[in-house]
Amino acid sequence: MAGGHGDGTCPMSAYDQLQLIAGAALLLLLATALAVLAVRRRRSERAYLDQLSDREERLKLALWATGERYWDYDVATGNLHRLLLDAPGSMAEDIVPVTGLVHPDDHPVALERLDAYLTGQSNTFLAELRIANGHGGWIWMRARGRIVATGPDGRVQRIAGTALNITATRAAERERQIASEVLRSMNEAVSVLDRNFDFISVNAAFSRMTGYEESDIIGRNASILDSLQHDNAFYQHIREMIVRTGRWSGEIWQRRKDGEEFLCSIESSCVYDSNGELILHVAVLNDITQQKRAEQELRYLANFDTLTNLPNRSLLSDRLSRAIVRAHREDNRIAVLFLDLDRFKDINDSLGHAAGDRILRAAATRLQQTVGLHHTVARLGGDEFTVVLENLESPEDADKIAREIIMAFEAPLLLDDRREIAISPSIGISLYPDHAQVPTELLKQADTAMYQAKAAGRRTFMRYDDAMDIAVRQRATISGALRKVLDRGELRLVFQPRLSLGSSRITGVEALLRWSNLEHGDIAPADFIPMAEESGLILEIGEWVLREACLTLHRWHQHGLRDLNVSVNVSVLQLLRGNFPEVVSRVLDDIGVPASSLELELTESVLMANAEHTAAKLQAFRALGVSLAIDDFGTGYSSLAYLKRLPITTIKIDKAFIGDLTHDPEDAAITSTVITMAHSLGLNVVAEGVETEAQMRFLASHDCDEIQGFWLSPPLDAHACLAFIRNWSPARLRAADAPSPALP
Ligand code: C2E
Ligand code: MG
Ligand code: MG
Repeated sequence: MAGGHGDGTCPMSAYDQLQLIAGAALLLLLATALAVLAVRRRRSERAYLDQLSDREERLKLALWATGERYWDYDVATGNLHRLLLDAPGSMAEDIVPVTGLVHPDDHPVALERLDAYLTGQSNTFLAELRIANGHGGWIWMRARGRIVATGPDGRVQRIAGTALNITATRAAERERQIASEVLRSMNEAVSVLDRNFDFISVNAAFSRMTGYEESDIIGRNASILDSLQHDNAFYQHIREMIVRTGRWSGEIWQRRKDGEEFLCSIESSCVYDSNGELILHVAVLNDITQQKRAEQELRYLANFDTLTNLPNRSLLSDRLSRAIVRAHREDNRIAVLFLDLDRFKDINDSLGHAAGDRILRAAATRLQQTVGLHHTVARLGGDEFTVVLENLESPEDADKIAREIIMAFEAPLLLDDRREIAISPSIGISLYPDHAQVPTELLKQADTAMYQAKAAGRRTFMRYDDAMDIAVRQRATISGALRKVLDRGELRLVFQPRLSLGSSRITGVEALLRWSNLEHGDIAPADFIPMAEESGLILEIGEWVLREACLTLHRWHQHGLRDLNVSVNVSVLQLLRGNFPEVVSRVLDDIGVPASSLELELTESVLMANAEHTAAKLQAFRALGVSLAIDDFGTGYSSLAYLKRLPITTIKIDKAFIGDLTHDPEDAAITSTVITMAHSLGLNVVAEGVETEAQMRFLASHDCDEIQGFWLSPPLDAHACLAFIRNWSPARLRAADAPSPALP
């Protein structure tokens, strides 16, 4: 070795030493470099690990914050690796077989979704499944995942992803669905509006009710429904109240899309956010127009008469009570007018109820027109009406209006296009405070006064006075007594002779009914016959009269007065009810009186009202051979031409015309015209109520066929009448023929 030492060892050269030092330095350098490198590596490894753990932390934090959980499914084992996080820091893991984890009912869903993913129908695996919560229950989870590992053969090895507990959301969603379904199917219209009352949502019922589809109305203001029934201020006020009180319910008019207005019941409430700020209004609306209408109809039925549309008794007493309170306060007077249509019952019975109804309606209109709309006119039922007159200065004001009503009824009422009918009212008047202080008393007294008006000859009015009450009580007892009249034999007939002016012979007698009662004395037919008609007793009484009259005539015939006839008065009820023609025929047969000896007297008003309806019945009498007379001719409204259509044989001119015949040129003219016209129709004319010779002479000179009246004879009992007829001498008539200064 070059450069060794002489002591046997080779001494080290400087070069060698230099080399050694350089090698050592190199080694040191290398070692240092290695050490530096090792430190560096360790540092970067630590940084890497730090970064990793940081990322993991962040992932955990993200998972925790979103509520998502991490899962990793191993296809080969069927196990699920889960990362469970309760708090950002605490983490647990477990590995569970997936079959036990998913609710058995949801297995098909899970498989189906998996299949969809694996076959490329969806980009991710996504399924909502029930997962065991570890405490024996289930929670709903939405799982989302992707393939994370595939084998060399391309088979999927692992799928990983996250899952979120959606139990609460699902419940909320379900609730929302139910709520919206309920809303949709509700009959009540519901609308949701924002704080400015602009529509946000409405249901189907709302659209049905208002005509506005959801698309029409969303974003529009609630004022779109405002109707013209209220002014803007009204709706504004309600909206302010809703905002102020948070809740409002009431009824208001609204308007549909087509402009139709409807009454709407609204329940409105406000919805606030968690800060207490008003965000929404929810309004439930109901169309109550029909319901209100029905209520009104019921109220109407309870208060109004449906035939005439006038207030009924109940509303009348209500109004009368209020009127009394007002009159008391203002210290003025009220009149109650009780009005009854004369002989309405006859007309109703004969023309039929439909015609009767029309008459009542026409009468109601006439009445209201006469007194004006500011006075109450009510119908109490039947043909009874009431008028309440307020603010009267004096009782005479009531008389004046009563007179006007009677005048207004002078013009006939229209029955239909062709027919008219004249009907008069009788009116009773009571006054507040003069007669009574309460409605019932006032009505009762007006009713009493009305009866007196009827008794005074109808077509008139009477003011109540206390004496009337006595008359009413008497009426009540009389009508009670009337029921026993036949059993007690209190009835009898009187006969008034009829004289033929042409032959100077007594041609017949009129049978007139008399009632003598032990208690009440003699009661005039004008007083008790209407009562007998009202109660229906007239049927029995009428048959008794007919039989009695025929018996008397039969006796007289047997006494040799073979040509004598008898006239019997017939009430409308007899004509309408039962089989009167049969009754007449049977009585004639029983007694053996020829039909030609009997005449039936029917009043004009009965026949007029009755014309077509009873023509057949009248024909039946004529077929029997019985004569028919019109009684009280001239008091009704019929014309001779009208009566011509009926099988009438005689007319009896009412005594009202005969009484003034010699003083009143008009009555004279009427009477002579009636005679002429009746003759031209082939009718026999009888003048009733002839009291003076002058009247007799007038009638004779105008060719009146027969007369009846006090001048000839008052009604007499059968015995006296027979004597009168037997003793009759035409010389009396001849004596009257001598010129007299009383002649017109
Ligand atoms: P009427 O059928 O017109 O009878 C004539 C009425 O005039 C009778 O009244 C008679 O007494 C009365 N009178 C007769 N001559 C005169 C006279 O010269 N002057 C005056 N001022 N009056 C005279 P009465 O008997 O009171 O009968 C009244 C009415 O009662 C009758 O009127 C008749 O409508 C009815 N009536 C009478 N009897 C019956 C009956 O049996 N049945 C029916 N349904 N009604 C009857
Ligand atoms: Mg008569
Ligand atoms: Mg008469």
